[in-house]
Amino acid sequence: MDPVPDCLFCRIVMREIPADLVLEWEYVLAFRDINPQAAVHVLVIPKEHIPSLAAVEQRHDRLLAALVRAVNEVARQGAVADGFRVVTNIGPDAQQSVEHLHLHVLGGRAFSWPPG
Ligand code: 5GP
Ligand code: ZN
Repeated sequence: MDPVPDCLFCRIVMREIPADLVLEWEYVLAFRDINPQAAVHVLVIPKEHIPSLAAVEQRHDRLLAALVRAVNEVARQGAVADGFRVVTNIGPDAQQSVEHLHLHVLGGRAFSWPPG
């Protein structure tokens, strides 16, 4: 899908909005969340605009594999040896606030379960 001009994360991909980048690969970008909820809180996104995980199609297979490997690379760089959490919110019930697929990588503290 083409970049969406008023999508915040497409604008970060296009370097129209600055971000604290952690990793950049062919299909994937990772940057620190502006409102971190843990010592490590990085957003891993596809450069392509995909509205959420629920909009993933078969043509995204390669991109998704890279996304998951990027999550692990972010965790390795963040030295979250005791564990980390990967979250993606889909739709209003889950309080998705940016409609461009992103995986939250959270680490550096203990988390509770079930989530709120
Ligand atoms: P969601 O609520 O959609 O699961 O997650 C969106 C995330 O994007 C939030 O954790 C929020 O703090 C983060 N965020 C919102 N605006 C910006 C921004 O301009 N830059 C960065 N780096 N993160 C942002
Ligand atoms: Zn987008």
